[in-house]
Amino acid sequence: MALYSARKGFNVGLTVGGINLNQGFHVMAGPCSVESAEQVEATAAHLAAKGVRILRGGAYKPRTSPYSFQGLEEAGLRMLATAAQKNGMITVSEVMDTDTIPVVTEYIDVLQVGARNMQNFSLLKKLAAQKKPVLLKRGMSATIEEFLLAAEYVLQGNDRVVLCERGVRSFDTITRNMLDLAGAAVLRQMSHLPVIVDLSHSTGRTDIIVPLARACVALGAEGIMVEVHPDPQTALCDADQALSLAEASGLLDAIEPWVALRTRLDGSRTAASAPGAAAGA
Ligand code: PEP
Ligand code: MN
Repeated sequence: MALYSARKGFNVGLTVGGINLNQGFHVMAGPCSVESAEQVEATAAHLAAKGVRILRGGAYKPRTSPYSFQGLEEAGLRMLATAAQKNGMITVSEVMDTDTIPVVTEYIDVLQVGARNMQNFSLLKKLAAQKKPVLLKRGMSATIEEFLLAAEYVLQGNDRVVLCERGVRSFDTITRNMLDLAGAAVLRQMSHLPVIVDLSHSTGRTDIIVPLARACVALGAEGIMVEVHPDPQTALCDADQALSLAEASGLLDAIEPWVALRTRLDGSRTAASAPGAAAGA
């Protein structure tokens, strides 16, 4: 299988709003759904104060039941964009169908394709024909090869694709999905595209996020995604997996030394492999 996404070392220049998604470790955080301006602004202000620069939030929600909250649509996008702007952040939000690409691109910096749409080929083709970066989530029963081939659809016309491992369906319900960290490592090895690991949708839990986030730092992922809500119990969507603001702070504090260590090790590796580094040392 000849994959465009498998050009190792090929830097596509995935910089959005001054944030280089090809380098370092990035935390994408925010509520599952935008529920109100107050909710998203409280979350953004808290996260930004802790150094998070990428705000996520759904406004068009792919809900299993038609009776569940479906999202605030354009009003929600506006609230997310405003909260991000006030706090110097960029935004990630889901685009569910081809009809809403124009409105989502108007407000949002990184367009998310949800797990349920990973093989919505008409959506992927339309996203290839526009300029914004696309965060593509792995389908809940997609193989790694199917995932990369879905990414190829976007890459036909748009270089800026971010892969997001978010767990796959399994026999075990102890976690919501089964997080495939081996898959994330394989993706990093096979592809030049940044790999983000969504710890909230993969686990459906809040109590194992810290060790998993550390594992993501260790395996070389470009970052994680987590859901955060100022009052998780009242969340209109995915309440069980939302971190409170205090828990989000705890997570960020817990990974900080790990990220610093990785940066130091990567830096020394780069220096050691740079021409003349050994001679100069
Ligand atoms: C989400 O990120 O809000 C979401 C619905 O995720 P997924 O498509 O991975 O289920
Ligand atoms: Mn969610």
